[in-house]
Amino acid sequence: MRRTKIIATLGPATDAPGVLAGLIEAGVDVVRINCSHGSWDDRNRQVRALREASEAAGKHVAIIGDLQGPKIRINRFAAGPVTLREGASFVLDTAMDPKGGTAEAVGVAYESLPQDVTRGDSLLLDDGQLVLEVMRVEGTRVHCRVVIGGELSDSKGINRQCGGLSARALTPKDRDDIRHAAAAGIDWLAVSFVRNPEDMAEARELLRQAGGSAHLIAKIERAEAVASLEGIIDASDAIMVARGDLGVEMGYAGLTGLQKKILRLTRARHKVAITATQMMESMVHHRMPTRAEVSDVANAVMDGTDAVMLSAETAVGEYPVQAVAAMAEVCVGAETYQFSAGRPRDRSDDQFETVDEAVAMAVMYTANHLRPQAIVALTESGSTPLWMSRVRSDIPIFAFTRHEATRRRVQLYRGVYPVAYDITHTDLALVDQELLGVMHSMGHVSAGDLVIITRGELSGVSGGTNSMKILRVSGL
Ligand code: PGA
Ligand code: MN
Repeated sequence: MRRTKIIATLGPATDAPGVLAGLIEAGVDVVRINCSHGSWDDRNRQVRALREASEAAGKHVAIIGDLQGPKIRINRFAAGPVTLREGASFVLDTAMDPKGGTAEAVGVAYESLPQDVTRGDSLLLDDGQLVLEVMRVEGTRVHCRVVIGGELSDSKGINRQCGGLSARALTPKDRDDIRHAAAAGIDWLAVSFVRNPEDMAEARELLRQAGGSAHLIAKIERAEAVASLEGIIDASDAIMVARGDLGVEMGYAGLTGLQKKILRLTRARHKVAITATQMMESMVHHRMPTRAEVSDVANAVMDGTDAVMLSAETAVGEYPVQAVAAMAEVCVGAETYQFSAGRPRDRSDDQFETVDEAVAMAVMYTANHLRPQAIVALTESGSTPLWMSRVRSDIPIFAFTRHEATRRRVQLYRGVYPVAYDITHTDLALVDQELLGVMHSMGHVSAGDLVIITRGELSGVSGGTNSMKILRVSGL
């Protein structure tokens, strides 16, 4: 079984008939709905379509709502993509018709752009694919010279090299999107261009006020966030290494080392880690990934990422289903190699703070040395399987829970697989045999296999896990 989870970004390519079902069949665990494009009419339609497709497939697929944040983007072109030639002049205009872009000028929604830039600044478009140099600022118009040209299409991002565009993390649009996301019942909320832990606390507060119960992902994509990494991790439930904008702001040469550092710190602080952007970029137009992309995905897996993410590959690509299938294959290959390379010693020098954490660690120590067929964790909130999945292992962790929200949430955790199970309807004396029966009927265990089960004495209570049992499956 693949342990590393796969996130696919939804977009026009996944709206085509049958594609969502294809993605789920190919192994998608989580989808990302990007608030940078489209409207909530479209997004609510996507949420409904996803819920229907996952129900039809009998799978739990989580949804990430990804806020646009203060990403500065160009508006749209009147007649499709344009080509900018090196040396040509090009104007970014905050007062221009948002749908009226041409090969000479395009609108920008960020009104402070003319104040935030000065002559000589380098502006990077489309994650640095195109580079403009600011020549002069005239009212709402920023006149540029094209340094590196290429094709430019609607809504591409703009960054200033070395960071420093002043916008705060949660824009009025983000606040509105948080309300819609809460109403749509999304499972994870991703906050873009986070600067500090306070930005995460504010997003959490807004989400709770809107009645949302999603967990929060901080996207690390600004120089300021790298400087407050530990505080941001502690204020979040998950971290995304958002390599697109991060690579532009920090320069791409340091990106790989930074990715490893962020993944290590995130897991060490018991949080969930996502590696994102351009992982299989060539598959936007090709059926096969490049060897460099294969290596990139495999390295993220070996670095301990919980999930790898596809962006344009699935949102607008020609081969969305193949991209997921290729990614799934590479993850499995990397995991096999990684675990055979030696038994991990994770956390062997740590103090544990809570009983459920201590039980989870005892389970993983035992599992990695006894090598049972499976671990079964009865859980309410998903915190026991989260603790467990912070320890490197190749033993699958089945999260049995009566809560649909928990089943979807744990889809982001490496090596954790959700199972619907209502303990409140079971005679407690028979629970263990019933759990083994469910595992057997799902084909995960057979007679003679060892299984580790964890649960609380007071079943149905969050944070109550206090026992571990090792059982052998009898002839069922
Ligand atoms: P985005 O975030 O796709 O929303 O820009 C990810 C990144 O910047 O890498
Ligand atoms: Mn980004």
